[in-house]
Amino acid sequence: MSTKTGPQYYPGANRDHWYQDDFGGDRMEVNVVVLHTTEGRSLPDYQGGSVAPNLTAVPDFAAKRLKWYQHFQIDVSSRALVNRRGGVETNTLNVCQVELVGTCDPELHTKWKTHDQAHVYWPKAPEWALRAVAQYLAWMHIHHDVPLRGPTLWPAYPKSWGNGGGQRMSGERWNGFKGVCGHMHVPENTHGDPGAIDFEALLGFAKAAAQD
Ligand SMILES: [Zn+2]
Repeated sequence: MSTKTGPQYYPGANRDHWYQDDFGGDRMEVNVVVLHTTEGRSLPDYQGGSVAPNLTAVPDFAAKRLKWYQHFQIDVSSRALVNRRGGVETNTLNVCQVELVGTCDPELHTKWKTHDQAHVYWPKAPEWALRAVAQYLAWMHIHHDVPLRGPTLWPAYPKSWGNGGGQRMSGERWNGFKGVCGHMHVPENTHGDPGAIDFEALLGFAKAAAQD
């Protein structure tokens, strides 16, 4: 099977925080996008890159846009998922991972709001932020054939932690999955991000963007 077909760099993404030279990664042919939320308000260090995704999207509130950083090529495995010995593959199973800076946790959202700290609460993301993620998904669809579909259950955090919303895929379902999902859907993992992001709106914007 061929690997690394299609463009490997998301147009406009900054590559000043590049980790592929340090960590390598497996060559793949991506057919899944996994969305995360960072639970912070700025670009993380990712422990020197050891738990980095392929891309990070940082909100620029003044410009109402997302600033993209790329850490690994599109068809190279990144490192933000847990993978247990045995069981299924996770990071290396043809997955391109995106960390969205902001939170899916209503408690953290309330705390930041109280302190007037600008942030995206992804379950109630402003339309410009959702559309910017959708633009990326459309690009992944056009250039890497990632289907614009995904799981139906996107339970809110903290219910989504573990498998509290019954949303997490079995190993078998995960192995056959192609499309867009969240960290909270990936087996062998417990994290509940990105919670109740408006997946229906996101897909709608992505499909519209793919037709432009
Ligand atoms: Zn995550």
